[in-house]
Amino acid sequence: MSAPHAYRLRDFVGGLAQLLDETTDETQILTRGTQLLKTLIAHDDWLDEAFTRPDPARYQQYLLYADARQRFSVVSFVWGAGQSTPVHDHRVWGLIGMLRGAEISQSYQRTADGLQAVGAPVRLQPGRVESVSPAQRDIHRVSNAFDDRTSISIHVYGGNIGAVQRAVYREDGSEKQFISGYDNRYLPNIWDLSHG
Ligand code: FE
Repeated sequence: MSAPHAYRLRDFVGGLAQLLDETTDETQILTRGTQLLKTLIAHDDWLDEAFTRPDPARYQQYLLYADARQRFSVVSFVWGAGQSTPVHDHRVWGLIGMLRGAEISQSYQRTADGLQAVGAPVRLQPGRVESVSPAQRDIHRVSNAFDDRTSISIHVYGGNIGAVQRAVYREDGSEKQFISGYDNRYLPNIWDLSHG
């Protein structure tokens, strides 16, 4: 059976598939996708508990949905207290919607002198959506804003992000290729219409 209010995620992935049927223009996708994601994260009552669990060793990436043609994927990112990602890129468009807690995103650029922070860190509060794009602002580090509790954000990417070959960056600006994979073996069931 589906989690209570699983229809919210079902409606979201339906809306996104429809959007991607209508346009391949990235600006359109990010603008209209932001509105869809805002609607999804306006409520915190639909994410199954199995995809909210932090791990003491590192942040978790739970795949919630992957489009049949791998045009997009939806991932629950769970940061334990004080956890953060390495500086990394995406290579596909992405939307980050804050569901629970708060996180801080710092953008970087590569220079001859190594990695350099760009702009002020952005603090994401629940309900807020940020975007990343390979055309601009694609390199960042994301950290849990709290050192005493879990934070969760819902990410949407323009591909099967766990299978995308991309990079993490060292202080000197050199890159190391990686493929993130996912931390769950099973996906949430959002298709049992008998439970709403
Ligand atoms: Fe990222």
